[in-house]
Amino acid sequence: MTKDKKKKISMTTRIFIGLIGGIITGIILHYFVPAGQIRDDIIIEGAFYMVGSGFMRLLQMLVVPLVFFSLSTGALSMGDTASLGKIGVKTVLFYLFTTASAVAIALGLSLIIKPGMGMDLSTVAQADVSIADAPSAKDTLLDIIPTNPIAALAEGNMLQIILFALLVGVICASMPEKLATISRLLNEGNDLMMKMTTMVMKVAPFGVFALVARTFSQLGFETFGPMLKYMGAVIGGLGLHVVFTYIPLLVIFTRLNPFKFFKKILPVITFAFSSASSGATIPITLASMDDAGVPRKVSAFTIPLGATINMDGTAIMQGCAVIFMSYAYQIPLEFSDFLTVILTATLASVGTAAIPGVGLVTLSMVLVSVGLPVEGIAMIMGIDRILDMARTAVNVTGDAVVTLIAAKTEGLLDIDQYNSTEKAEVSEEF
Ligand code: ASP
Repeated sequence: MTKDKKKKISMTTRIFIGLIGGIITGIILHYFVPAGQIRDDIIIEGAFYMVGSGFMRLLQMLVVPLVFFSLSTGALSMGDTASLGKIGVKTVLFYLFTTASAVAIALGLSLIIKPGMGMDLSTVAQADVSIADAPSAKDTLLDIIPTNPIAALAEGNMLQIILFALLVGVICASMPEKLATISRLLNEGNDLMMKMTTMVMKVAPFGVFALVARTFSQLGFETFGPMLKYMGAVIGGLGLHVVFTYIPLLVIFTRLNPFKFFKKILPVITFAFSSASSGATIPITLASMDDAGVPRKVSAFTIPLGATINMDGTAIMQGCAVIFMSYAYQIPLEFSDFLTVILTATLASVGTAAIPGVGLVTLSMVLVSVGLPVEGIAMIMGIDRILDMARTAVNVTGDAVVTLIAAKTEGLLDIDQYNSTEKAEVSEEF
């Protein structure tokens, strides 16, 4: 046990060191190392690219089988559809509520900071901006049902995988004797994927270092100047959302110590920040929920679902961007427009894919809803990567908060594990 404890603390710390080391290395490379083949082709686009992308690919490799097996075995061990349904409804309501609250905070703060005020837009070059069509509610709902589950798995369509895996698990639970072999296969598949996750996590500090060092070595901070107010609004909004939405919800609904919560999810925040992808972060989020005492039967459902539909950080960026554009283009918005933005940004968060940069694409849907020009997106594109990293960290934090609330309020949280610093022995659960 002591060995386990030592190992876990050092892993979290090492991932964090990878992050800080990567930021410092990237900045040094950008400002102090002259451009040239060694810096650009060998270090940044060679070594950092290979290690960073290799690590991302390893995580992406885990996501689909991990979600499928964890979720089907989770449903299998839970067995009854009534409690699954209860957790499902509760989780979706919390996800929607936190996102709507995120947009409201972003709008309020931006109206105070007034990003974009006094900007001269005539100097901004027009760029090609892709416009996301708002998917109709009917189609979005229908799209949860896979017409071909194998294609859903192959394409990594998360909501379809969730539905199919739940059905497989529930049916196996209802026919334990007839489906004993398949049930065993699912459990073994789950053990296999958990072991693979542990192996991949061993290289996480290097992956995080390389990803962040590459991003920061490419970032020119000079471009931040005129955008500082906008960036301040987004980052301030993210911080306020954590303080005024997540922490109170956690304390009110779970009575858990929020400091412990952040300690447990530090690797998740670090990796989401480094990769700017909530989807690729799923294996790490699941592992840290194990450590927080959430049984896989809950987290295997709520985490992939949250990574797919709950993007509070993205919604905050979109709220701030709306106010930014409204000042920059001098198109005043009315109160009813703010309500429209809360609604469309919440829907856009559901429709945003859990990969880097997509929040900027679905922003067009929000802008169009209140008559703002989508060309404005070109102005914030240049500095979006750094905000993408920050908002993705908030996106995954929201998933973790709601997961803990769902587990605790259903009486399924292992409080001793939450309070302990020791690593969860998850594989014993199944
Ligand atoms: N990168 C974000 C995520 O994966 C989505 C976005 O806002 O672009 O959560």
